Amino acid sequence: MTSRIIFLGPPGAGKGTQAQRLADICRIPHISTGEILRKAITEGTELGKKAKSYVDKGELVPDNLILDLIRERLKHSDTQSGWILDGFPRNVSQANFLDKLLSELSQNCDYAINLEVPDRILLDRLLARGRKDDNKETIARRLEVYREQTAPVINYYQEKGSLYSVEGDRTFDEVTQSLQKIIQA
Ligand code: AMP
Repeated sequence: MTSRIIFLGPPGAGKGTQAQRLADICRIPHISTGEILRKAITEGTELGKKAKSYVDKGELVPDNLILDLIRERLKHSDTQSGWILDGFPRNVSQANFLDKLLSELSQNCDYAINLEVPDRILLDRLLARGRKDDNKETIARRLEVYREQTAPVINYYQEKGSLYSVEGDRTFDEVTQSLQKIIQA
């Protein structure tokens, strides 16, 4: 069975850890654009150099830096039985791009999963995480960018009928179980 899954939800909702766990269970790749960018920044590649100032400030990197990368990644042979996208699409234009790309590849997104976590919990979780872009100013900007640019993506998938919401403010295992129920893994 193929599972093609998009993880939505604010920064700090637990997307990365849950996406990785589900990817292990389903034996499909976990594709995190944030991780790809952080690696590129650490390695000092061209992409990393271009992306750094945006990531450091909590802004989205320009779409043109991300779209080719997703196109190449989804053409890789390890995506035959599915994939989990975490951190992409991050705005409605990326969602439109993904739709076009998937139809080119004769694929479909099966589930867009929105991990819902109340704001007051997000802040505590992000501050506890200690990533380089997890300082107070950057967090505030990332939450703002999320509300302005990423939250509309939820409606986009709702209108397409592929949106599933999961209460993220529970134990790790409880959240994983709800996810497994949705995708029947
Ligand atoms: P994340 O690990 O998903 O929280 O992403 C960390 C940072 O990487 C974000 O704050 C953005 O600066 C950048 N980023 C990750 N994914 C995207 C994307 N799809 N579009 C634009 N910027 C992104």
